[in-house]
Amino acid sequence: MSCLFCKIIDGSIPSTPVYQDALCYAFADINPQAPVHVLIVPREHLASLADAGAHHPALLGHLLWAAAQIAREKKLTSGYRVVLNTGHHGGQTVDHLHVHLLGGRSLAWPPG
Ligand code: 5GP
Ligand code: ZN
Repeated sequence: MSCLFCKIIDGSIPSTPVYQDALCYAFADINPQAPVHVLIVPREHLASLADAGAHHPALLGHLLWAAAQIAREKKLTSGYRVVLNTGHHGGQTVDHLHVHLLGGRSLAWPPG
């Protein structure tokens, strides 16, 4: 198994855990773009949002709920951003679906 985030989930590559449950694992991004930058990944290997199937909506919703839960725990009361880069043009560099949670500073829009 060669997937970086699967290795992070199984612990063979170390990470800084932020939240975990039966469906997902959340950890600190190694190259943070904001004071809070957390990646939330499903335990199930799913390459990207483009590969989501008809049985995935509940899992995808769970990832968003986890992002909101982490934002509450981190006290991001001024707001935050949730990003799901998908595919080459979307800026996805790791082929295991992940939700970015960014907060702790004002974020520009639109993205580049
Ligand atoms: P993407 O560009 O695919 O949306 O985001 C991939 C993210 O994974 C990047 O923000 C990058 O910093 C992060 N990342 C890449 N390799 C590692 C790693 O080994 N550990 C952690 N914690 N984050 C990583
Ligand atoms: Zn994977």
